[in-house]
Amino acid sequence: MSAAQIMGLVASGRATSRAELSRALGLAPSTISAHVQELLDSGLLKESGEGSSRGGRRPRLLSVRGGQEVILGADLGGHHGRIATLDGSGRPHTVQDIEVDIATGPEAVLEQVAAAFEELGAGRPIRGIGIGLPGPVSLTRTVIGPSRMPGWSGFAVHDWLTRRFGVPLVVENDANLMAVGEAAARGPELHDFIYVKAGTGVGAAVVIDGRLRRGARGIAGDISHLRVPAGGDQPCSCGNFGCLETIASGAALVAAVRRDGVDVRNTTDLVRLALDGNPTVTTNVRFAGRNLGEVLAPVVNFLNPQAVILGGTLSSCDLFVAAARGVLYERCLPLTTQELDIEVSTAGPDAGLLGIGRLVVEEALTQPTS
Ligand SMILES: [Zn+2]
Repeated sequence: MSAAQIMGLVASGRATSRAELSRALGLAPSTISAHVQELLDSGLLKESGEGSSRGGRRPRLLSVRGGQEVILGADLGGHHGRIATLDGSGRPHTVQDIEVDIATGPEAVLEQVAAAFEELGAGRPIRGIGIGLPGPVSLTRTVIGPSRMPGWSGFAVHDWLTRRFGVPLVVENDANLMAVGEAAARGPELHDFIYVKAGTGVGAAVVIDGRLRRGARGIAGDISHLRVPAGGDQPCSCGNFGCLETIASGAALVAAVRRDGVDVRNTTDLVRLALDGNPTVTTNVRFAGRNLGEVLAPVVNFLNPQAVILGGTLSSCDLFVAAARGVLYERCLPLTTQELDIEVSTAGPDAGLLGIGRLVVEEALTQPTS
């Protein structure tokens, strides 16, 4: 149970009192009361009036405070970003797509995002800000050793944004955010899963007992540099050879089909041609999916998750998903796959923003309003 779940239930009107929260979340009233008090103290919830009673004292009604306050979020990819205002419970409100080129470096990209935030926020007070980046982010919110992000390694994104905005901040790897967003979209039934983002890059995130597991440095779930036999001596940006990224990332696929004479610019083009049945593309996409399955099989055997959720642009390719699923069923122990769901993300393109919303609400809790 997280603070954001309580905020979500209250914001959506599904629960407006402590008793209703207790029923909705299946938790003891004393536990709920303690969490609600924390949210009241930090100014995220307010209580007012009296609700209808089922006998006994009339309950106080809970609602989301904030009024004019907004949360701002930016989920950035290599060439594209989704930028949004989110409500007090962390749900996206106004969403805009922007073109970004992550390769222009942190200062230029963050300047562009900050300008977009200032326009979207329209002078309203900002409750918190979240930003998702397509590379590894350390626990100190610094980008470390990313592929295809020149100039970003070691850049303290958190410090830059704090100097500019001075509000509670979340800086997180995109796959981690999407995993949190998927959990937010599906509710508490989904609590143990691996989330794979297969877009221009390929990354993953681990959620156990309903909590994102970042590992000792924040890199947990990074599958992109696990070696696959089919990778052979293909050089990788990490300096090694034969990493998954050299086969199963959108960037590698685009390069591979271009070598075979197919004119594609990016992963979106590639997916369109795969859906059109271009044989060079479909062959490469299936191969990529199978190799993703090869890497995930030992992870699934080891962690025994309830689900593997596939997101990112490539997950809209049935062929890619089917190939990964096939290898997982073939390679994993029947005990681990008997009840394993291998599914495409339901949170869709807003998964990252939903994740930002949930994490910013939690972060804001640790920094109460004055
Ligand atoms: Zn590598």
